[in-house]
Amino acid sequence: MIDQKILDMKEEIIKSVQDSVKIRSVEEEPKDGMPFGKGVHNSLIHCLNLSESLGFKAVNVDNMIGYAEYGQGDEMVAILGHLDVVPEGEGWTYPPYAAEIHNGKIYGRGTTDDKGPTIGALYALKAIKDLNIPLKRRVRVFFGLNEETGSNCVKYYVEKGEEMPVCGFTPDAEYPIINGEKGIVTCKYTRKLNQSGDMILKSVKGGIAANVVPDFAEAEIIVAGNNKEIKKLSDKTEDIKIEEKENSIIIKCHGVSAHGSTPEKGKNAISYLMKFLERLNFTGDFKEFLDYYNEYIGTDLNGESLGIYLEDDISGKLIFNLGTVLGNENELSFEINIRYPVKKTFEDFNDTFKEKMELGKFKEVYLRHKKSLYVSPDTEFIKKLQKVYEEQFGEKAELISIGGGTYAKAMKNIVAFGPIMKGQPMVEHKPDEYIEIDSLMKNVQVMAAAIKELAN
Ligand SMILES: [Zn+2]
Repeated sequence: MIDQKILDMKEEIIKSVQDSVKIRSVEEEPKDGMPFGKGVHNSLIHCLNLSESLGFKAVNVDNMIGYAEYGQGDEMVAILGHLDVVPEGEGWTYPPYAAEIHNGKIYGRGTTDDKGPTIGALYALKAIKDLNIPLKRRVRVFFGLNEETGSNCVKYYVEKGEEMPVCGFTPDAEYPIINGEKGIVTCKYTRKLNQSGDMILKSVKGGIAANVVPDFAEAEIIVAGNNKEIKKLSDKTEDIKIEEKENSIIIKCHGVSAHGSTPEKGKNAISYLMKFLERLNFTGDFKEFLDYYNEYIGTDLNGESLGIYLEDDISGKLIFNLGTVLGNENELSFEINIRYPVKKTFEDFNDTFKEKMELGKFKEVYLRHKKSLYVSPDTEFIKKLQKVYEEQFGEKAELISIGGGTYAKAMKNIVAFGPIMKGQPMVEHKPDEYIEIDSLMKNVQVMAAAIKELAN
């Protein structure tokens, strides 16, 4: 009955998603009352108005986040969606903000990530309301506004002391259920260099971001006297190329790029460059740095050399990736990405990590930490979501642990559930992002079933 009710609203659901996609809600400069810019704000207002028109209480929390609420009870169930989108980028076949329909798909930035699922959740709740399905808990559909660039929307909501859900899900990843997410530390360090001697590092650079394995790194070195010896060394090392300039030489190292959560699929060009440089005749401070680097960082992907290795039975090993280097004669800086097992905490390795960074004479520039997330399979709401998934899809609801982080980390008692179904391609953040209308409708049905379970 509820499934049919949802199908009856198909045209309305499609239109509401299209209306939202037509608002370009990329984060921009803050304006008065618009902390994430005008586009994001307009998309919030659109969803709050829609919520009211569907008969829900609509709440704007200081323009930082909003929600629609329905039902009664002391406890609240949350569906955590977001309306902000990443920039459209290049390479679209269809216009990114026209929400055109071709071959049963709505095309546009935000269709899958995350406007389609968020507005879908609103209609799932509408179906429950129209059919007077009894619920014991209140339900809130959240309109997050800053998921793509820091989740400051939910942070604000939490810090303000607003009500936390007793359980819920975010339709912002994939099915079946992600109940484990590694903790992620992203940090940057600098180190002063006080160089002297016949060989001086003039500059070094490599990598594009902390969470990407660098596929390229290069160093320029000023060498007094002749440098034939270095050229000889290079001949033996296939990924190292050397260019001679008038007063210096440039050493280039090629690696293989990969995502920071799977560094074993790549080859870290910075680490191979440092390994090569150690074979040269540096003396003094830079030599000390190279010795440190190769002893404690090197090509280790699991933090063993640093003494921060951890593992658990659910998510495996700690993952360490040094993603960027930038430096000149006087200073070096690095960005590092660490992903630790879902059952461990930052405190399990933080002291050792700090100690080792100090040992290397590194000074912290910033350190951002997103806690690990792990909800036990024995938890009631995980069992309920599994039941819903199995009924809806006719297959076992496996629980997944991932190395990345989802929106679920931002709010207590939330796990990722949908919207991407098994076998569907990842379209989010790419040109020609779309959502299949059939998938959208199925998602609304699944979410309605989930709300019914969780709110009872
Ligand atoms: Zn998202």
